[in-house]
Amino acid sequence: MTPPWPDLAPPASRAHATPAAPPGLTWPPLGQSFAALGDAFSVPVAVSPLPDPQLVACSADAAALVGLQPPSTPEQEQAWALAFGGHVAALSGRSRATVYAGHQFGNWAGQLGDGRALLLGDWPGQHADAARWEVQFKGSGRTPFSRMGDGWAVLRSSIREFLCSEAMAALGIPTTRALCLVGSSRPVRRERLETAAMVTRLAPSFVRFGHFEHFSYSGQTAQLRQLTDWVIARHCPACVDAAQPALALLQWVVAGTARLIAQWQAVGFMHGVMNTDNMSILSWTIDYGPFAFLDAYDPLHTPNTTDRTGRYAYGRQPAVAHWNLLALAQALLPLIDQPEQARDAVDSFRPLFLQALQQQLGAKLGLQQTLPDDDALIQDLLAAMHANRSDWILTFRALAHVEENPQAALPPQLVAQFALAPGLLADWARRYRDRLRAEPREAAARAQAMNAVNPALVLRHHLAQAAIAQAEHGDFSEVRRLLAALRRPFDPAGLPAHYTAPPPDDAPPPSLSCSS
Ligand code: AMP
Ligand code: MG
Repeated sequence: MTPPWPDLAPPASRAHATPAAPPGLTWPPLGQSFAALGDAFSVPVAVSPLPDPQLVACSADAAALVGLQPPSTPEQEQAWALAFGGHVAALSGRSRATVYAGHQFGNWAGQLGDGRALLLGDWPGQHADAARWEVQFKGSGRTPFSRMGDGWAVLRSSIREFLCSEAMAALGIPTTRALCLVGSSRPVRRERLETAAMVTRLAPSFVRFGHFEHFSYSGQTAQLRQLTDWVIARHCPACVDAAQPALALLQWVVAGTARLIAQWQAVGFMHGVMNTDNMSILSWTIDYGPFAFLDAYDPLHTPNTTDRTGRYAYGRQPAVAHWNLLALAQALLPLIDQPEQARDAVDSFRPLFLQALQQQLGAKLGLQQTLPDDDALIQDLLAAMHANRSDWILTFRALAHVEENPQAALPPQLVAQFALAPGLLADWARRYRDRLRAEPREAAARAQAMNAVNPALVLRHHLAQAAIAQAEHGDFSEVRRLLAALRRPFDPAGLPAHYTAPPPDDAPPPSLSCSS
């Protein structure tokens, strides 16, 4: 069959500098499971190697997932820079770009695809939770799906993606992983002149809702079924024996997405571009663009300056996830007996999400049990935080210091978050203390549990900016320091004080766009 897009030939003349793995760096043979689906799903595209590649950072934890030893000498760093900068044919010689489609900002965008990412193949995982990890370069040159884009990723946004992937994983939130980050001397024009970089990403699958939309809306039902069967076989074996596997897959994605969005909300994460092409079929966080973590709590905050209507504001992300699931359900309709069954599956998003959110927020408050008034207690805390513009991270972290005794002073770090309307905190804390006395758990055990779910450190915008500013001058030490700290977000002991502080008053407000 002839795939329905033009210009399939791999761009010519992209020579690889070295043919084999450099000394000191070996990796398992790459499987080609996604490639085996055929040319309707992905096409060969050669990697464009980065000039003057330099290893900016490597995640030892991500390396361990696939059995790699992180580099520990300058020679090994150079070997990594060459391999993960696209110079080693043994690693990147069978790279492919996949085709997908999507709804962007609520509108059908038609065919999209990997415009600057290339799939290299898949590696066996070292842990039972991911049998194989697909390996992908992001920022490796133009593909037939690049449209108006140049195929590059700039160092600035690559640092953000690299750090946030590893930070989210350490927070226990499902996410694509970042193995390493390689910078280069290639100039790239954005709002200003920047340089190109490449992130090597790992995920059990990079399949998005948009992959299903592509085959469904272009009438390729056989390929839609083939993709569905492939995803089910690899990632949702429980769906195989269901009466309707595609419906079971949809139900699985609805439940996973409900859990994921509840985790995002609990940690104050905003994706920034929740288009259906940025929604993973595994319900993992994918494609870190103009994301942010809440500083001051404001449900209408959006980090993305391109998002003028606030479609992807913090408080709207659950509704957008629901909308995106409807788009996925619509795409799967050719494989589902009755449209009502697909609608019912998606309708379960709201109760599943609310249940997951209640559980997440209850844990943040140190509540082991759920009592009838807990919802009101949580809502009133959020209202008081909104009125006070309380810092999301610092407020929840401070709650572990609240004593049950109504005569005890409230912790000063909590009081400081309610300076605009202190009476709201006093009223709420009275109820919270009453509620804590109904808990069976000892105060010390409760505080310990709260400190294990309320991070002290997240990748706040100004921290990422400081690391980016240094890296753009060739100093990667702050990227590496911040990575090490973000890998233990619940344990602030020994961290520089400014890592766990809110942005300084003179920090420029985040200004992030889709152009990265
Ligand atoms: P995003 O919303 O940033 O994940 O990207 C939407 C679409 O644009 C995807 O198909 C990307 O592959 C593509 N894209 C984004 N940036 C570039 C770029 N610099 N060059 C080529 N394609 C891009
Ligand atoms: Mg994307």
